[in-house]
Amino acid sequence: MCTNLWRWPVNRTGFDSSSLTPACEPDVAPRSAGQPLWLLAELTYKCPLQCPYCSNPLDFSASGQELSTEQWVKVLREAREMGAAQLGFSGGEPLSRPDLNELIQEARQLGYYSNLITSGIGLNDQKLEQFRASGLDHIQVSFQASDEEVNNMLAGSAKAFKQKLKMARAVKANGYPMVLNFVTHRHNIDRIDRIIELCIELGADYVELATCQYYGWALENREQLMPSRAQLERAERITNEYRARLEAAGNPMKLIFVTPDYYEERPKGCMNGWGQIFLTVTPDGTALPCHSARQLPVQFPNVKDRSLEDIWYRSFGFNKYRGNDWMKEPCRSCDEKDKDFGGCRCQAYMLTGDAANADPVCSKSQHHGKILQARAEAEAPRDTPMTFRNERNSRVFCRSE
Ligand code: SF4
Ligand code: SF4
Repeated sequence: MCTNLWRWPVNRTGFDSSSLTPACEPDVAPRSAGQPLWLLAELTYKCPLQCPYCSNPLDFSASGQELSTEQWVKVLREAREMGAAQLGFSGGEPLSRPDLNELIQEARQLGYYSNLITSGIGLNDQKLEQFRASGLDHIQVSFQASDEEVNNMLAGSAKAFKQKLKMARAVKANGYPMVLNFVTHRHNIDRIDRIIELCIELGADYVELATCQYYGWALENREQLMPSRAQLERAERITNEYRARLEAAGNPMKLIFVTPDYYEERPKGCMNGWGQIFLTVTPDGTALPCHSARQLPVQFPNVKDRSLEDIWYRSFGFNKYRGNDWMKEPCRSCDEKDKDFGGCRCQAYMLTGDAANADPVCSKSQHHGKILQARAEAEAPRDTPMTFRNERNSRVFCRSE
């Protein structure tokens, strides 16, 4: 998946297993929950590309059978009844699903604002017209870099860049609002000016310059991907210069620059709070409050077994980190806890072994040294090969778990 939602990590070794919760937990009385306004439908883990920062789980190749069309329709209907208004079709590559058009039609009938999050591989003029007629509202196309060689090296496909260019132009020609997404990292961030120029040339409406967040495959490759502070500051300065230029020229293109939280002293208010707004359903039907959450030692429910309403309000997994009763110090007594909810549970788990700890991005966390160490490593990176996201590498991770 190539969007800037928080990413899929996988269990790391060396954790204190005493923090693990039992595999089967009873449901709990519902805690204060909002409505699931945003549904992310991860239709499939199939993808023709192999980005080394992909947010899919390292062990995606062991995922269970994909939901059928009927099961996805049920998910869309139930979420809409509960108030969901925004729908993202994601993956893997959602174009790999032959029933995508059918699901777009269903989304339109239900009244969703739907967004296709795609690499552009597998898209063509005919599909664009078909999706438009079926009511798709918005398309996000991801690029790996502004230079063909780097793009194709990262994507693992010699044809990817040309296809993306062609499809970005076709998306605009079909009248869609278009987001171009670039995950930035130490291999492409120094060409931020060229990236923005390319987006201007393609007529993007929004450009997401999303500095890599270290979950899933990106965490595995963090040492090779994390930019230095100087790289990051230069990129932000150039982006601001372009913002001023675009405004002066009356160009409405919006540049969204996402700073990596590893260079912050306070964590992000992850997912706007656990189980408050976001609902993710994975290809095999597991329902999650955030698309990174599956790796946590918490049992999450499946839409094959229960209604979404039951899952959202009553399941153990969706109530586990709602509110702030679960917090430990320093979050418990912190006057900022209603602002950032203690940060990201997955990042706390990945870096400290206990999801109830403060996110180590926070300078008040006793584990903040791990973030400082990663920053120091980014100043003197080692030239080691990256692990690309593909079936073969995923099977290696499955065997080693
Ligand atoms: S490999 Fe790349 S294109 Fe495919 S899902 Fe992952 S990030 Fe998206
Ligand atoms: S201590 Fe916890 S609640 Fe306070 S700022 Fe840090 S992460 Fe947020």
